[in-house]
Amino acid sequence: MEESYLIKPMLDANYPVIDYGKGVYLYDLDGKKYLDASSGAVTANIGHGVEEIIEAMNAQAKRVSFVYRSQFTSEAAEKLAAKIAEMTMGDLNWSFFVNSGSEATETAMKIAIQYWQEKGIKTKTKVLSRWVSYHGITLGALSLSGHAGRRARFIPLLQDFPVIHPPYCYRCPYNLEAPGCEYLCAGELETVINRVGANNIAAFIAEPVIGAAGAAIAPPQGYFHKIKEICERNEILFIADEVMTGFGRTGKVLSMEHWGVIPDIVALGKGMGAGYASIAAALVSDHVMEPILNGSKIVMSGHTLSANPQTCAVSLAVLEYLEKNEIIKEVESKGYYLRNQLEKLKNEFEIIGDIRGKGLLLGIEFVQNRERKVPFPRNMQLTKELVELAQRNGLLIYPAGAGIDGIHGDAVIISPPLTITKRE
Ligand code: PLP
Repeated sequence: MEESYLIKPMLDANYPVIDYGKGVYLYDLDGKKYLDASSGAVTANIGHGVEEIIEAMNAQAKRVSFVYRSQFTSEAAEKLAAKIAEMTMGDLNWSFFVNSGSEATETAMKIAIQYWQEKGIKTKTKVLSRWVSYHGITLGALSLSGHAGRRARFIPLLQDFPVIHPPYCYRCPYNLEAPGCEYLCAGELETVINRVGANNIAAFIAEPVIGAAGAAIAPPQGYFHKIKEICERNEILFIADEVMTGFGRTGKVLSMEHWGVIPDIVALGKGMGAGYASIAAALVSDHVMEPILNGSKIVMSGHTLSANPQTCAVSLAVLEYLEKNEIIKEVESKGYYLRNQLEKLKNEFEIIGDIRGKGLLLGIEFVQNRERKVPFPRNMQLTKELVELAQRNGLLIYPAGAGIDGIHGDAVIISPPLTITKRE
């Protein structure tokens, strides 16, 4: 294309023009075929061009695409909320629909603050998080995010919420190993709470598996138990940001199921619409909704397109497709298979430092020296070249940060559609 007024991520780059997608493959206008081994940005969880979803999209469009949520509800929105309540654990039953993961984490944060207000406690307004982490690009979500690169230009506009270390076992700040470490990194939460004062803290937010800022850092077994116990004891809500992990990416509907910990609020996105619709949600437990239902009866958030029937119908079709085809239950074994194949590459490529992750959310961290875990210079040049080289060769992988000392080192995420076959 000659002239373009589209603001793309890299304004001086030449992007191939995509024509269509089918299954795990994408095809550009020159007929080149790509294996979508990252599901875009860990989004296209059921692959491309699924007929049933297209049919659901058309059927809803023929009825009505948009109604405003303060005037109407719709069958699609009601059914989607009911489906999510049925699929997810514990008393996580209430959905607030938004349009992106960033809006989902912001909404979750606002609901947490409102919860305490409804209970008559106005001081609990801070939300603690981890460095590294990524919770979204809008200013509230960015305030929660431990992502130096994405924050740098906007620091004066961001809230400086306190942070703790993530469970980054490959580069443990304490030089210990789980479970012997007794999860000192989780214990930091207690230290920060004591310093800031529990009466000033509404919630703690964490990604079950750290994605964009950590390249699939999965926690050791007892980590989230300790986090939840500290939150409960200090009367702080626990928000799980499952925007990347939710709806099957790691082999469970919610990733927190792996660790048997039920969050108070969950942020959902990406796989919820699987790329077919811009939809995300804050999923709220009964016990968090209770004081709001008995109090102001209004959740103070929302966007024009929140809960529109069009995106809700598409998301419902995606979730039904996941269930009908029993896709989630295959994810763990596919993940083990892929991980074993990646492990074999270690023999060939000295630059592979760590292979990690859960289910079909896997990460590779690159190092100059494997034994001493020496990272490459922290400009992500290697990642950039690697991702471009892969794309030129018809393979899509996702550039992520390794999160070393909070400044991103080189790493990629491998996260194919959950529908991928072993052969593919
Ligand atoms: N939370 C997590 C864990 C994410 O991975 C992302 C996006 O990568 C977001 C929030 C923000 O979602 P969105 O890009 O849809 O705003």
